[in-house]
Amino acid sequence: MLLKMLIVNNSILSSYERCERLYEWKQYHPRIENIHLSAGKALAEAFYSSRLAFAQDTSAQDAENIGKLAIIDHFNGIDDPLNKKGLSKVLFAFERSNATFPLEEFHSFGKDGKPCLEFSFVEPLPLEFQGEPVLYSGAFDAIRSYGNLTCGHDDKSSLYIGPKWPEQWSLRGQFIGYAWGAQHYGIKLDGFIIRGVPIAGDNPPQETIIYTPSYLIREWLEKTVQLAKRLLNSIEEKKFYPSLGDSCNAFGGCMFREICSLNPENRLDWLQSKFESYEIDPLTKARIMK
Ligand code: SF4
Repeated sequence: MLLKMLIVNNSILSSYERCERLYEWKQYHPRIENIHLSAGKALAEAFYSSRLAFAQDTSAQDAENIGKLAIIDHFNGIDDPLNKKGLSKVLFAFERSNATFPLEEFHSFGKDGKPCLEFSFVEPLPLEFQGEPVLYSGAFDAIRSYGNLTCGHDDKSSLYIGPKWPEQWSLRGQFIGYAWGAQHYGIKLDGFIIRGVPIAGDNPPQETIIYTPSYLIREWLEKTVQLAKRLLNSIEEKKFYPSLGDSCNAFGGCMFREICSLNPENRLDWLQSKFESYEIDPLTKARIMK
């Protein structure tokens, strides 16, 4: 029942805002296994399992070892020394992150006797589509106590982290939307801690904090509903227009540039031959093949 309803999230709406076609073609994904995603997933599993163990009174050292085992399991114990994001590099990144930000200083926020790790939500926006509420979903790594603050926490892994890394996060709708979601569970977040975890390079891991006051959440909700209405309009009209701005060439270039250059009647065949077709279930993150 839930999957028949329209579920949006930050990624869907911000892609749609960049270019309507990115929504129309959101089910198409590159065929090659993305090693960057795999390394990020291994780190996420390690952080989750070590934090859970530590919150359940395992010693920090043993909890860290549980995290390392999660990484080794993820790669089936096989290291590829030529892979910049292979097993040994990811283990190094995890150890370096724990050396910089010790597990003993990570105080998971508890609710109903459980640590808030891998927090996810699906909540209705004040908007309907075909008689059903439009839902907004989000998922982030943890809620933690930080001094006298209650903060969301998200780990962001990448190959390198530069000195300006902390400057890119303020006012990000992604985090303001998470704070809106947490409110529905009676948790008022003061802000978000974002941890940058480099897998290579000399720059150490970094953390930065951004704040999510209620006036930003109010503005976020108005903007999100406005954008979702535009999206509903596109869905009803079955019209998704191309970008007229710099989206085609920004961030190294959109993966659909070749397709968009073709005569419209040839595009679908090319999409189906060059990309894998599946959607991601926003609740379970499982692939739904198309
Ligand atoms: S290439 Fe440009 S128009 Fe085509 S989907 Fe990408 S951003 Fe949109």
